[in-house]
This record gives sequence, structure tokens and C-alpha cells, in this order.
Amino acid sequence: MQFSPEDSDRSSAAAAPLGFWQRWQSWPLYLRIVGAVVIGVLVGLLLGERAAVLQLPSRLVLRILGALAPPLILLAIVQALMRAEIGGRKAGRLAFLLVLNTLVAISIGLLVANVIQPGRWVEAQPPPAGEKTEQAKDPLSMFLDNVPKSIFGPLSDGGSVLSVIFLAVSFGIALRRLRHHHLNTVDDLVAVALQSLVIILHWIIDVIPLAVLGIVASIIGVSGFGDFVALGGFVIAVLIALALQATYYLVRVYFGSWVRPWDLLRGTRDALVMAFSTSSSTATMPVTYACLRENVGIREESATMGALVGANFNNDGTALYEAMSALFVAQLLGMELSIGQQFMVVLTSVVASVGAAGIPEAGLVTMTLVFNAVDLPVEYIAILLTVDWFLDRSRTAINVMGDLNVSCLLDGKVPPPERLVAETLPAAENA
Ligand code: ASP
Repeated sequence: MQFSPEDSDRSSAAAAPLGFWQRWQSWPLYLRIVGAVVIGVLVGLLLGERAAVLQLPSRLVLRILGALAPPLILLAIVQALMRAEIGGRKAGRLAFLLVLNTLVAISIGLLVANVIQPGRWVEAQPPPAGEKTEQAKDPLSMFLDNVPKSIFGPLSDGGSVLSVIFLAVSFGIALRRLRHHHLNTVDDLVAVALQSLVIILHWIIDVIPLAVLGIVASIIGVSGFGDFVALGGFVIAVLIALALQATYYLVRVYFGSWVRPWDLLRGTRDALVMAFSTSSSTATMPVTYACLRENVGIREESATMGALVGANFNNDGTALYEAMSALFVAQLLGMELSIGQQFMVVLTSVVASVGAAGIPEAGLVTMTLVFNAVDLPVEYIAILLTVDWFLDRSRTAINVMGDLNVSCLLDGKVPPPERLVAETLPAAENA
């Protein structure tokens, strides 16, 4: 957030909270979330069942994430397709590899979640109190009703005036930062629209620690530590599934390309570490490309297709995570997902992962679509907020590994000529 010079002239009473806010903002998100979990546990133990009201911030966050999801997916896909410069036979092979890898990721995720069943580590329980819609509405719930459920909702028939204002204020403020951006082409228009959504998403991310505090306090206060035992199981299950997906990538590289898996890991460790530390595969993209070209020696065309073009569509870690989350929450609620529903989970996870922009927490936004598709209560995504800071990093590293995998497979089994020369040169010199 930016402040004008006049702001600093205000009274010291106004300056004090600003100082606290800036200090708070300077902490990395994961530390803020860990702090919120600790405070949330204490508050939950202290307030007991009365902590149920503290669900409000997390419900608000999820409501807004749900509203951002459809346009974010729409614009991310439109932009990726518009900018992709591909054609010919390799494009077909690229599309095939992307779909295959994503389906493998989702299958691994569902398999691990079915075997470990982390959601059944505790007794199945009814949805949280905040979800009951039949009770008399308190003022907070009435306020929540005016937060749009979908960005397009307030513009369609029956949208309330308050939700239109909500939308107008959010975009008005987000677009202030972009108002000098030149709009010459359709590409600019899509980029500005996407950028304004990302700005709003960052505001929501800033509120996540508060939402975590509230949801942790209300869960501990109302139902004790049970859900968190299950959540621990879920984290383990996701990490196992991601590790299996990584193994799958390396085995495919071993059999399908000239690159040795160990050389690939060594040559691209900067990209993998960056993905883990930034939680953004888009921010990592240039490093991924440079590592592939300079350290591994992949041909330019393959590196471009896999790490630059494919990366926009290729988020296997996200797909795996979304499918596992849906199954986890279904298990937690004692629900059986029918074959049809599991198919819907697969389908929407594919779409959601393609539309998940390569930025932190994007998977959490698009997950609301997967939950809605199979009628799972999106309120339960709130419990995942507590661990998402860590799982986001892990799945982002796998997203980047997917790009590496596709680049190597596109490069084929024959090393590029300059590589062959480099490999044979020392032998020739010795002779
Ligand atoms: N953070 C992930 C990425 O940048 C997307 C996600 O949230 O799943 O690839």
C-alpha cells in the first residue's frame, strides 16, 4: 500500500498503528501465519465455544478468493493462449506431455489420499456452525452476504447495490496503480485486467494471517485438536505424493531424453530453490530457462517450449494438491465421493491448474472451483490456510520440475551437436 506525503504529517496517534502495520508487513508471510497459528491456539483454548465467531475473517477471505477465481482463470488462460508462440508438430507433443503429466499428478494425488486417508484420522464431523444458513442472520453474516460470490455476480440480474459498490471500490483502488499503463493492444487490456486481479489477490494474502488466527481459534475452541491431527496427515500425504511425482519426472527423463536425471537436478537447483523460496513459478521462469540452456545444455526451442510456453499451462503440483484437498475434506466430513464426483474433481483440477497463474496462493484461489463443482463446503478450505504457506512452496517446486521434465522430453534422446562435440573433444585430445 502506498501513502502520500500528507499521511506522514498526521498526528502521532495515526503514526503508531502505521508503524506496527509496516513492521508486521515486513515479516515474511510464513512467519506471520505461524505466529497467527500460535495465537489462534491460545485464543481458542481461552474462549472455548465462543471462539466460533472468529471464523468471520476466514469466511470473508474465502468468499473473495471464490469471487476472484473465475476471472483469474479466464484471464490467465486467455493471456497464456494469446502469448504462446507455438505451432507445428512440437506443439502437439507439448500438449500431449502437459495433459499426460497433469493426469499422472492427479492420479498419484488421489491414490495417496485414498491409501493414507488423512481425513479419516479423526471422527467425521458436521460442517462448522458458520455454515448453517437456516438460522437467523447476525449483522456480520448479513455483511458477508454483500461480498460478491463471483466477480460477475453483482453485474448480473439480482446483484445487490452493496456488492456492486464493493466491486467498484476494489477495482477503483487496484486500478489506481495501473492508471498510467498504456492500452494500445488487446494484449495490454488483458494484462491490465489480470494485473488488477493480482493486486486484489495480494490484499487478500495480507489478511490471511488474521483468517488463520480466527479459524484456528474457532476450530480449537469448538472441536479441539482433532482436525489438526488430520491436517498433519494431509501434509505428509501431499509431500509423499509430490515426491512420487518428482520421481516420475526423473524416471521419464532418464528413459525419454539424453539428459541424466542427476545432471538435471544439479544444473537446475537454482530454479528449484527459487521456486521453493518465492512460491512463484512465473517469477522463477527466467531462471528455469537460463538453467536449462546454460547448465543443462537443452536446445533453445525445447527450453522455450517447455519452460516459457508450457509453464503457463503446466502446474502439475497444483493439480495434484487440489484433487487431494477435495478428497481430504470429503473424508473429513465423512462424505463418499461417487465415481462421477471424482471424475469432476479430476476435470476441474486440470482446468483449475491450467488457470492457476504462477503466483503465490493461486492454487488456493482456483481450488474454490473444484470444491464448488462437487458441492464440498468451500469454508473447509480455511483449515488448509494454516499449512498452505508451506505446501504452496512445495507444489511450486514441482510445477517448475514439470517444466524441466517437458523441456527434456521435447529435446529427445539425441544431445545437441555442440554437446556431442564437447563430450567427444576431451577423448579426442587424449588420443
Ligand atoms: N504458487 C504456485 C505457482 O507459482 C501456484 C499455486 O498456488 O499452486 O506455481
